[in-house]
Amino acid sequence: MEAARVLAERGHRVTLCEKSGSLGGNLIPGSVPHFKRYDRALVKWYQRQLELLNVEVEMNCEITADNISNYKPDEIITATGSKPIQSKFGSETFVTTADDILLGKAEAGKNVVVIGGGLVGCETALWLAQNGSKVTVIEMLKDILGGHGALPHMNHDMLVDLLAFQKVDIYTSSTVKSIEGGKVTAETPEGECSFTADTVISAIGYRENHALFNELKDMDIPVHNIGDSQKVHNIMYSIWNSYELAREL
Ligand SMILES: Cc1cc2nc3c(=O)[nH]c(=O)nc-3n(C[C@H](O)[C@H](O)[C@H](O)COP(=O)(O)OP(=O)(O)OC[C@H]3O[C@@H](n4cnc5c(N)ncnc54)[C@H](O)[C@@H]3O)c2cc1C
Repeated sequence: MEAARVLAERGHRVTLCEKSGSLGGNLIPGSVPHFKRYDRALVKWYQRQLELLNVEVEMNCEITADNISNYKPDEIITATGSKPIQSKFGSETFVTTADDILLGKAEAGKNVVVIGGGLVGCETALWLAQNGSKVTVIEMLKDILGGHGALPHMNHDMLVDLLAFQKVDIYTSSTVKSIEGGKVTAETPEGECSFTADTVISAIGYRENHALFNELKDMDIPVHNIGDSQKVHNIMYSIWNSYELAREL
């Protein structure tokens, strides 16, 4: 959306193709909790700017190596984002992703274990605790949220305080060993611990979704890969990265 906005402002004719029915990508699950409502406002702002700039937006339009030539583009930008990293953790079917929980595609029970204490795991844990679940976070590193410095300090400290206020149990330097019979067993610094869980949420990170870029990159037309599909990061980096490209083209 940022690349389309800047390119349109600079006088290019831009078509933005989105495979789903909504613009916003990962900002959609990301902005579900009330405390993330300003991310939703950002998506609305972009939508409005694209309307004002007459950017042609095609929804439910998945670009593939077969249909891209229909657009006769002079330049192609892939901004296909990222996908949650999936891990089997045994064969239990009650492991779901934070995205599915946030989007309402899966429901969280009373006792929830979140595997992964990064930003997505911690925000999902906080949101579920605010909605009445008893939540435990298991993080393999020695600090949640990537430690001090990974996030802006005020965001880090606020999240840590809110998680404590909502009585979310946090186990760091801990690794999940098994998920069986409604229990998650983890190796923690205090030894092996078992946690009752109706729902287990995997929030162990995201991986670049650059399959489309790889398919298109050897075409005669220049192809540029931006945002999370280039490197999984955050909103700020995706916007900077897109702006930098769009002002050069
Ligand atoms: C739950 C969650 C919470 C987050 N919270 C924060 C936060 O608080 N702060 C922060 O800075 N960052 C946060 N992030 C990260 C942030 O959302 C991403 O860094 C950002 O959305 C990346 O933008 P993007 O446009 O590169 O990719 P995405 O947002 O992933 O968008 C990619 C889009 O491409 C579409 N697409 C994919 N393939 C095709 C195709 N072939 N044809 C057409 N369309 C296609 C997808 O449907 C999607 O709409 C969060 C992420 C998640 C998942």
